[in-house]
Amino acid sequence: MSHSIANPLLEMHILPPFSRIKAEQVEPAISALIAQNRAHLQQLLASISATSQAPTWDNLIAPLEAQSDKLDQAWAPISHLNSVCNNDEMRAAYTASIALLTEFNTELSQNETLYKAYQQLAQSDGYAHLSQAQKQAIDNALRDFRLGGVALNAQDKIRYGEIQQRLSELATQFSNHVLDATQAWYKHVVDAAVLIGLPESALAQAAQAAQKKSLTGYVLTLDFPSYYAVMMYADNRALREEIYTAYVTRASAESKKTNPDHSVTITAEFDNTAIIAETLALRYELARLLGFKHYAERSLATKMAQSPEQVLDFLQQLATKSKPYAARDYAELCEFAAAEGCQDLQAWDTTYYSEKLRVAKYAVSQEELRVYFPAEKVIEGMFAIVQKLFAIRVEPVLEFDTYHPDVRFYRIYKNQEPIASFYLDMFAREAKRGGAWMADARVRRKTDAGIQLPVAFLTCNFTPPVGDKPSLLTHDEVTTLFHEFGHGLHHMLTQIDVAAVSGINGVAWDAVELPSQFLENWCWEPQAIPLISGHYQTGAPLPKTLLDKMLAAKNFQSGLQMLRQIEFSLFDFRLHVEYSETNPIVARDLLQQVRNQVAVVQPPAFNRFENSFSHIFAGGYAAGYYSYKWAEVLSADAFSRFEEEGVFNAATGESFLQSVLQQGGSQAPMQLFKEFRGREPQIDALLRHCGIEVTA
Ligand SMILES: [Zn+2]
Repeated sequence: MSHSIANPLLEMHILPPFSRIKAEQVEPAISALIAQNRAHLQQLLASISATSQAPTWDNLIAPLEAQSDKLDQAWAPISHLNSVCNNDEMRAAYTASIALLTEFNTELSQNETLYKAYQQLAQSDGYAHLSQAQKQAIDNALRDFRLGGVALNAQDKIRYGEIQQRLSELATQFSNHVLDATQAWYKHVVDAAVLIGLPESALAQAAQAAQKKSLTGYVLTLDFPSYYAVMMYADNRALREEIYTAYVTRASAESKKTNPDHSVTITAEFDNTAIIAETLALRYELARLLGFKHYAERSLATKMAQSPEQVLDFLQQLATKSKPYAARDYAELCEFAAAEGCQDLQAWDTTYYSEKLRVAKYAVSQEELRVYFPAEKVIEGMFAIVQKLFAIRVEPVLEFDTYHPDVRFYRIYKNQEPIASFYLDMFAREAKRGGAWMADARVRRKTDAGIQLPVAFLTCNFTPPVGDKPSLLTHDEVTTLFHEFGHGLHHMLTQIDVAAVSGINGVAWDAVELPSQFLENWCWEPQAIPLISGHYQTGAPLPKTLLDKMLAAKNFQSGLQMLRQIEFSLFDFRLHVEYSETNPIVARDLLQQVRNQVAVVQPPAFNRFENSFSHIFAGGYAAGYYSYKWAEVLSADAFSRFEEEGVFNAATGESFLQSVLQQGGSQAPMQLFKEFRGREPQIDALLRHCGIEVTA
């Protein structure tokens, strides 16, 4: 195929040529690049074997890295545009390309010749002379080859493929059932008096839902915002009980369905119970096929945690320490509810009275804080903070090729030298996916022409400026910005030159949230607040009284929240440790066991939470839900060194930069953490930050 008009996606650029990228160029470019990569790989492997050379870094991996970077360079802006400037053409081009990429990646992971070449390289004398980053890249590749089943015998390989296929079907069915069950139930309310307590926004939502169904009045649904608004604000207790019951039985044999005449029946058509059982059995079989003891061990093969015992012990410790605080939180709630006239607090009352208690105790709203956090002031302050910490300078670049006038572009300097750059796309707008995230546009790597510097995309969805009023952020949004910038620094400050382990590449996923959550700490520091806050009219920094309220409210019911997350984590992890063919665990029984052991409050017997636990049955969190708490412990513990040595201590900042941020995925995260902290992580700092006293 000839390209009479140059396709910019097939050229190499320092930065993506956004203004010239068109949807119709996407699929031809990706398909041409994949064909190039495929031919290049074949040629490389053939020439190594024809000349009887041993595979080396220089004759195999370096050229592969260079070739695959071309594909990455084309794909990064496409994937970004699909998220931030979505339209039908781009979505179609993206979907078609994703299918091609998935196929190509599967092909790579099943390439036995390539696997053997990596193996040969790992066993060669040359391996010992490679850098730590190069060794780690090879070790990771070999690990991923094995996890992909390439080393299995022919028969097992077939079985492996069947299991993967079936597991993916089951995951899709599981989430479809949750979705269908969520949509199957609704409640039509004609009399607004039933909804007393609901805020305006929730009422408007419910009225809109009614209109969509061509009904008068209001419709309550099981979509989270609708469900949660009722649980939190509806004064009508029977209504809360009804919606709670429908919500927690979704996708079980007790799932509820609203009929056209508004009557409600119980249906088993969305029941996930059998899917859970089959998923567990297949995961176990898959793990055994690959030589692991159980699925939890398979999960940990790519994580920072070293053994199932370590994870269980970690969760158990957190449970033991936080249980008394959860009990105290619960007792306080019961006492408050009793004073309000509710003597027998039920599951459908806890959110409702918790919100009332929170308002009574702290009375600080996100809206009240907004005026102190104009976006410009926050960004400027955030750059000043990282300048103090890591001796880097962030400067805006005014001339650059972009896809939208709102986007800004910045360059980072260290010792006057440019080391990285990033796009900042802050505001919500039409055709832009919600949420906040960091993605890489270019990865740091060594090329024939020198070092390719890393480039990041930082994307948020904050409220844009309205009229002559600047964009004002809630404190939650400020925290989000710091979080994503933390991921960005991890990607951009790396000094590793091997693409596979540079920046956030190759970082174990229970460690990847360390830099992001770490940077959030400065949003709460009395010394940092004056840098990032200033009333948009007067310039006055956030008053201390408001900060104190914010800090006090931060730990509201932290014991109960901690224990709830631990309950889910323990359930998930034990499920994948204890399941075997001779011990086919029933998920519900195990969940009850875990609750008997750690919970301070038991949900009603009809609760079927496990049937909609999509994180572990339809998402990537199987035997990995503990990662949330794990990463929080790491970031809190890392920050505690700054609390000891000064939150703006430049030497401590330099140490974090050198031990963690610059190293990317080049070494085991435990090693890097120990280098920075001088010891293994401890849970004390996290507990202390949550207001849980640590006694020896
Ligand atoms: Zn994150």
